[in-house]
Formats: sequence, structure tokens, C-alpha cells
Amino acid sequence: MTLRFYNTLSRRLEEFEPLEPGKVLIYGCGPTIYDYPHIGNFRTFIAFDLLHRFLEWSGFEVRFVTNMTDVDDKTIKGALGKGITIREYTEPFGEAFLEEARALGIRPMDLYPKATDYVDAMVEFVRRLEEKGLAYQAEDGSVYYSIAAFPEYGRLSRVDPEAVRPGARVSMDEYAKEDVRDFALWKAAKPEDEEAGAAWDSPWGRGRPGWHLECSVMSIAELGETLDIHLGGEDLIFPHHEDEIAQSEGATGKTFVRYWLHIKHLLLEGQKMSKSIGNTVSVGELITRGYDPAAIRHQLLSAQYRRELNFTLEGLEGSSRAVQRLLDFEARLSECPVADEASEHGTSETRTPETRIPETRIPELAKAGLDRFREGMNDDLNSAEALGALFVFVNEVNAELDRVGSPIRRSDRDAGVEALASMDEVLGLLELAREARSVDDTTEEWIEEQIRLRKEARKARDFAAADAIRDTLADRGVVLEDSAEGTRWKVVK
Ligand code: AMP
Ligand code: ZN
Repeated sequence: MTLRFYNTLSRRLEEFEPLEPGKVLIYGCGPTIYDYPHIGNFRTFIAFDLLHRFLEWSGFEVRFVTNMTDVDDKTIKGALGKGITIREYTEPFGEAFLEEARALGIRPMDLYPKATDYVDAMVEFVRRLEEKGLAYQAEDGSVYYSIAAFPEYGRLSRVDPEAVRPGARVSMDEYAKEDVRDFALWKAAKPEDEEAGAAWDSPWGRGRPGWHLECSVMSIAELGETLDIHLGGEDLIFPHHEDEIAQSEGATGKTFVRYWLHIKHLLLEGQKMSKSIGNTVSVGELITRGYDPAAIRHQLLSAQYRRELNFTLEGLEGSSRAVQRLLDFEARLSECPVADEASEHGTSETRTPETRIPETRIPELAKAGLDRFREGMNDDLNSAEALGALFVFVNEVNAELDRVGSPIRRSDRDAGVEALASMDEVLGLLELAREARSVDDTTEEWIEEQIRLRKEARKARDFAAADAIRDTLADRGVVLEDSAEGTRWKVVK
């Protein structure tokens, strides 16, 4: 199957082809940095990352831009509450977003533009719309987009333009609009905006950009007038993305976005998440409470981005076990004793049983696993299918190792290790999992010392002491595995 995406614009699965072969331009609506991001935001950002990784894995060159909204009603309100400017107020939230994204293994985007750095370009853009008769300044000093002058309005969200009647009033704030559907491009400054450092000079007087305008201007400035893919949470389809199309296509006369992808909202413990209900949880909180970032990432990938996903602490335990299974498999396979085929003598007929290394089905399983994995991802980034393919591969190779024992051929082992690493390049779980389970040198020395003491206790037949040491280690998440070769240890989460 070739790569297909569900395009919100056509409401269909469409084969994906970038405008310029081999090169993909992507813009994703990032966080409004008025507060710490919550786990729901990260469902969306993990979907961005999955797309980013998978396109690169598939051989595309990707340019990915994700903005940070630092000027809007919420950042201004927050800054005023603290008596500081929006710059000062939003900075820690922007940093928290980047830090938590890193903690979840989200690869850096090419650029994280902030709206306040593009105000000149925004003013210029509004002027262009005004020249084209698509914008007008109202009595309140704000500049609005004239929906009536853009007949294609509503194509993305399929809103019925007649459903909202011109002339009705929406808010006290915007009483001056000619048409209720019109939205603000440039908002006349109020004293509070000045106080929060959220007002700039413009041909229409002091003011600030509207939120929709910010994304049109930053995406066009950084990626050009036609983007291949634009993403965001499903809540952004209307009015945000509808308005972005009106502005961008109104100004350039070109197709703004070729594929629109929208991520379904995450539920938390079965409920809609909302700051007003107070049932949000942040990635930082979960990590502080000891949850494994790899397990968080695994749960966020456990359903395809368009399907319902319910994030639960119980599910997180299951994800932890799944991630542990991957790590155990990686260790088992990469440490499996091997013999080089080159060391074998003669042909298969003349080979003695002692020098014969059993053939395994691992290369075949690796190929089949990778094919299934790619099929799943090609099918509109179906991460659930892709994870399924990975775990089938793990189970099959484990069964094969049980069957053949060791040593196995080096090339067989390498084929398995490479397939695992390749799938993980897209999923991004193993490195995070290893990191979360790594210990510093002092702790490592301490663990080794405990293992030595336990061995001594067992030699002296003091089994109570030996068990006590095992329990102490287990309390710290260190699990021992005894075998003929000695005792191995691992940290589990
Ligand atoms: P915001 O910071 O509210 O502007 O949101 C940043 C991004 O997260 C946007 O793309 C939103 O659509 C998305 N988002 C917000 N809430 C959720 C949620 N519960 N699940 C998934 N994505 C969300
Ligand atoms: Zn946006």
C-alpha cells in the first residue's frame, strides 16, 4: 500500500504525494503558552512526531514548523494577573513545552516560531488583504476579514454559511463587524494590551494580531504559500483552520494546504479534559510521580490519531509492561550467543553436527514484520497496527529463539536487531525506556555490591539474609535474574 492520509478537506483517504517530489512541508498548530501543556496536547504533538519520523523513515526530506502562540486573550490575561509582560509570562510555558516534548522523545522540529516575532509580517499581510477588498477597518478600530468576499468559506469545516445570519451580534467586543461571521485580523489595542506589552504600531493604530492570522503568516513566511500538510487537534477545524484558509488563499490566490490532518481529542479516565473542570494532567506531573515516559508515549500511540483514545493510569501500567517486554526482547536478542557462518567448515553435506549452526526464521520474520509495520503506518498513520506488527514480531522471534536455542548465526541475529531498531526509529520507545531505567555509576556499584553480598549469604546458607537483599533491591525497582552464568540485574518501572 502506498501512503494515504485522511484529508479533512475531502473527508476521504487520499494517496499522499508532496508538491515537490521527495520533500514535505508541514505546519502544525502548537501550544498556546499561557499554561503548562496537558497530556491531551501531547496526544496531538506525539501525532506530529509520528508523522515527522515516519516520513523521514520513508525517505522524505521534511521541513516541519510548529508555532507557539504567545499573544492572545489568555496570555494577556495571565500576564496582567501577574503584573508582567506577555513575553515574561509565556517564556516558562514555552520552555516547559519543549522540555516535556523532549522527555517524550519528540524529535525537535525545524523551527518553533513565536507570534510576537512576526508582527511586521502580520501587518503587511493584513494590508494585502485590505488591498484585495477582503478586509476592512470597523468603527472600533479593529480590522476584520470580510467573509462575504470569500465565497469558498466553509469548505473545510462544512459549516453552513447561512446558519449564522449576518447582522446578529456575537460579543460586545465585536459589535462593529459588518457581518457576524467576520473575524478579527487585527484587534485595536485596549489599555490592558498596552500594559501587558501586547500592542504594536500599525496603519490602523495600536493593536495586536488575531490568533488565526498568526498561523497563516508564520506558516507562509517559513514554508511558502502552499504547504503539503497542516495539522492540529480536531477542535481547530472551525473556526481556526477555516479562517486560515480564507486569509491565506484570499491573499495569495493559491491553494494554502494540500492535506489537512486533525487529531481526535484525548479523553482522560473516560472524561473530556478541561482546564475549567480541573481534570487535566501534565506530562511533567506524571514523570514526577514516577511514570515511565516511554509508557506514556506508548499509550499515546496505542490508538490511531483519528480514533478515540482514553488515557488512564491503569492503561499506563499495561504500557509499562509492553515497553518492558520490548526491552527484554532487545536484550535477549542482542545478547544471544552467535557463531559466524564463516567459521563453519565445508558445505552443508560435509559439515559435522558440532560445527553446524542452526538456521532460524528470524530474517524472514524480520522482513514480514517490517512489511506489516509499513502497511500499518502507510494506512493513515495507524500506529495501533504498527505496534501490533512489532509485538507479533517480538513474539515470533522469541518463540524461534526458544525453539533453536543458541548459538545462532550472526546474520540472523543482526537481521532481528536491525528490524527492531528500524521500527523503533518510528515509534521512539526504546531509547526513552532505556534512559528511564538507567542508573548512575554509584548506584550501579551499590547494586553490584548487594549482589556480591547476596552470593556470600547464599554460600553460607543464610537464605533469609539473601532474600532480604533481593527484597531491598526489588523495592528500588531492581530485579535479579539468576542463571547458570551468574546473576543479571535490570531496573523495571
Ligand atoms: P492549545 O494549547 O489549547 O492551543 O492546544 C495545542 C494543541 O493541542 C492544538 O493543536 C489543540 O488542538 C490540541 N489539543 C488541545 N486539547 C487536546 C486534547 N484533549 N486532545 C488532543 N489534542 C488537544
Ligand atoms: Zn494555528
